[in-house]
Amino acid sequence: MKIGIFGGTFNPPHIGHLNIAEGFLKEFELSKVLIIPTYVPPHKISPSLASVEDRLKMCELTFSDEAFEISEIESQRKGKSYSVDTLTELGQIYPDADFYFLVGDDMLLTLHTWRNPEHILEMCKMVSTIRSDSYTISDLEEYAKAYFPEAFENDRFEFMYVPPIELSSTDIRERVESGEDIKDMVTDAVRDYIFARGIYCDRT
Ligand code: ATP
Repeated sequence: MKIGIFGGTFNPPHIGHLNIAEGFLKEFELSKVLIIPTYVPPHKISPSLASVEDRLKMCELTFSDEAFEISEIESQRKGKSYSVDTLTELGQIYPDADFYFLVGDDMLLTLHTWRNPEHILEMCKMVSTIRSDSYTISDLEEYAKAYFPEAFENDRFEFMYVPPIELSSTDIRERVESGEDIKDMVTDAVRDYIFARGIYCDRT
């Protein structure tokens, strides 16, 4: 069974996230994709950082296809989660799975700073995609080849092109804060949820 993993702060999840998650599901013929919101310590919760409950709920309202499963594996861990630990735990839950780990270009380019990246690359294939025209797939290949030559040779990296939707959670929070609409940037259900709950509105 091929299982996709897509982690993020998802503060909030947006159409750019959904776009790559859908492409990921199809291109790698995954049985499912685990959507994993990261834990953020309560003292960091602020008007610009929604609570984990709100982020989980907004993920449900974004990744609504049944092939997506919202996972609390990191948000319940209460403390900083390292991908290497999350993958180890998932390997115990799904001992026969082949894991595919999805990241945007900005995240891939930090891989050498993660805890134990070589071990991560043994446990999953790293799938990266571009977010905008700041980078090309060949930039990502160059990076992987330079920093992780062995894993690159062993096909532990995959590069996925889906026409990018240039958007970030920061853009959305800023728009909400300044009273602008966010239609078509998040799902309608997330937009309604944000406005009904007043998330990101009050930054005084
Ligand atoms: P923020 O603006 O708050 O930093 P973000 O939009 O980058 O948030 P994250 O939740 O940090 O969102 O991103 C989770 C993952 O999704 C990362 O791997 C990131 O590279 C990727 N990603 C985010 N936005 C896009 C996008 N528009 N297109 C492709 N990948 C994206």
